[in-house]
Amino acid sequence: MAISERAKEITDNIYTAYGSGTGVLFGIPSAFREGVRAIVQSAIGEGVKCPFCGEDGFDFKGLKYHLTCYCEVYQDTEDLC
Ligand SMILES: [Zn+2]
Repeated sequence: MAISERAKEITDNIYTAYGSGTGVLFGIPSAFREGVRAIVQSAIGEGVKCPFCGEDGFDFKGLKYHLTCYCEVYQDTEDLC
């Protein structure tokens, strides 16, 4: 799942408001911060879905980056012009 800038910002705000100075959040070790971001991304339920491979959670900039650099389904699609 791609994490949007908004999900990252919300996660940072949660850590600032409720986390400790060591990055521990509600007893969750700091090494799991990426997992917390994924939870936040799912919870806010927003994002653009790639119409080629179905991966979701992108903002527009992230979708363009995904299509250009990572989406093999898109890259394997025949050009029409
Ligand atoms: Zn894709």
